[in-house]
Amino acid sequence: MHKITIAIDGYSSTGKSTVAKQLADYLGYVYVDSGAMYRAVTLYAIQNDIISKNNFNIEKLKEILPSINLRFEKKSDWKKAHVFLNGKDVENEIRNLEVSEFVSPIATIHEVRVKLVAQQQQMGLEKGVVMDGRDIGTVVFPKAELKIFMNASANERAQRRYQELLDRGEVVEFKNVLKNIEERDHIDTTREDSPLIKAADAIEIDNSEMNLEDQFHVVLQLAKDRIAGRI
Ligand code: C5P
Repeated sequence: MHKITIAIDGYSSTGKSTVAKQLADYLGYVYVDSGAMYRAVTLYAIQNDIISKNNFNIEKLKEILPSINLRFEKKSDWKKAHVFLNGKDVENEIRNLEVSEFVSPIATIHEVRVKLVAQQQQMGLEKGVVMDGRDIGTVVFPKAELKIFMNASANERAQRRYQELLDRGEVVEFKNVLKNIEERDHIDTTREDSPLIKAADAIEIDNSEMNLEDQFHVVLQLAKDRIAGRI
């Protein structure tokens, strides 16, 4: 069957990855979590004293970029592909609040974006891909047949993220989770290189009041229509 490219962008914790993964599983497409790649670079930067509360050594980051190797691997009993940083599975580590605090400053760096965008475009060469992120419909796949832009209130998003972190056993305060979401929104939407904006041809979905099932059906219908060339 005719394969398309599906780009899902939106604010942090809008449930992009959940719907992208559902869609990819249903359609037999590859799911790529582009945020995981920015998170893995951030983890590397933290581990190599490139970024901390009082320090951001941008020159060193640019220097060590070529030594960062990222790849995705999926085993049959994993729910999704894991990201590997220089051969090590870091899927779990990249989700902690420390990485979340530094990932948006790291993602403002042009050289980081050039490297990751090139790898993302490579992964989408054969279509049949659902990729979620911030610049997928605008920069990575500007010609994607289906572009979705997801939104929800900051409070609702922070609630979801807070619950996710608690479920992972992390000790966090709600107010810090909300603050992190608001800070990331601000940096992601105001950065010079590839800011988070809705592509002109993207369909916006506000899921503040939607359950996962309803949301999936809306997005799946859009995908089926695009695959069939109906809209
Ligand atoms: O999707 P996730 O919330 O894991 O992404 C983490 C961060 O990575 C975002 O807040 C954003 O700063 C950055 N990012 C980006 N471009 C993408 C995906 C993520 O700048 N395509």
